[in-house]
Amino acid sequence: MTSTADAPAPATDPSAVLAAAATAPFGTVFGEVMSVARADASGWSEPALEPLTSFSLHPGTHALHYGSSCFEGLKAHRTVDGGIRAFRADKHAARLQQSCDRLLLPVPPIELTTRLIEMAVEANAAVTPPAPGSLYLRPTMLGTDVTIGAAAHPSHTAILYVLACPVGHYLPPRPLTIVVETEVPRTTPQFGVVKTGANYAMALGRIDRARREHEADQVLFAPGGIVQETGAANVVLVDGDLLVTPELTDSFLHGVTRDSLLQVARSLGWTVEERTVTVDECIEWSARPGAEIGLMGTAAVIAQVGTLVVDDRRLTLSAPDDGRLVELRRTLGEIQTGARPFTFA
Ligand SMILES: *Cc1c(COP(=O)(O)O)cnc(C)c1O
Repeated sequence: MTSTADAPAPATDPSAVLAAAATAPFGTVFGEVMSVARADASGWSEPALEPLTSFSLHPGTHALHYGSSCFEGLKAHRTVDGGIRAFRADKHAARLQQSCDRLLLPVPPIELTTRLIEMAVEANAAVTPPAPGSLYLRPTMLGTDVTIGAAAHPSHTAILYVLACPVGHYLPPRPLTIVVETEVPRTTPQFGVVKTGANYAMALGRIDRARREHEADQVLFAPGGIVQETGAANVVLVDGDLLVTPELTDSFLHGVTRDSLLQVARSLGWTVEERTVTVDECIEWSARPGAEIGLMGTAAVIAQVGTLVVDDRRLTLSAPDDGRLVELRRTLGEIQTGARPFTFA
């Protein structure tokens, strides 16, 4: 195994990188080292560290033409005992396997992905901000066969690399405005559980329209009135000790944050319901005093929804600074930094 002793030396002073990350938009400042492994007919290469720099791809690379690419997104946190720990890396590695499997890409072993993550964390430790900041990690998989004739064939070669971005406390500046979309789905059933760029491209048109027409932040996809998820986050409804979220189906991505928060809520003694959620229920929820709706994902953990736009009607929700969603977010934050012991199932 490659050790971090072989790590390329970063060119920039870590304090300058951290200062830049404190004010730059999420995901635009990068740690200067990435971890990489490549797959070909003989299997996976040893993981290695490389300087983060532009790399060359043949213009006929499969991923550039036929969508043979997927990724993960997770965070490493500075812990109370002075370490840095990637949050549930094994769970993300398993989801990457699922994405690769559906895209017929070489499937990286769990231990390879978690090792690449660990190496990226170690190599970029100096640019990992203290909590509530973190090091955002982006394992990225590309099918690298050089062919534009293989539209109906998978790529047999691939590259898997892990990018690291120091990020501050990522929270929307205000509760979000969400347009409810009841006509088109989030993505196709084949791709619901695949974390791939094509899904974002598919949602982009609706999100752009929602932004222009309603000054909205995101779109909640609920074809036929059945709630799936937004463009990049799972949905949760909370009222007192009751937490409701759509049950896992093939129609949307199974978030690690969703899974983590449900386990935390159960441990706090809340009632957790995973079941069909309808737009009608969301409308009714918005009228209940104190009931909250949130969006769950790695970047923000939970973002509060302040306004739902349903058929041009604007429904306002309570999004308190110290409500149940904030309590959940705080509790998960304590777990991530090791301040609160917790073992995930
Ligand atoms: C990544 C992602 C999420 C959130 O998943 P987490 O594991 O919680 O970060 C939700 N929906 C989509 C479409 C995503 O790509």
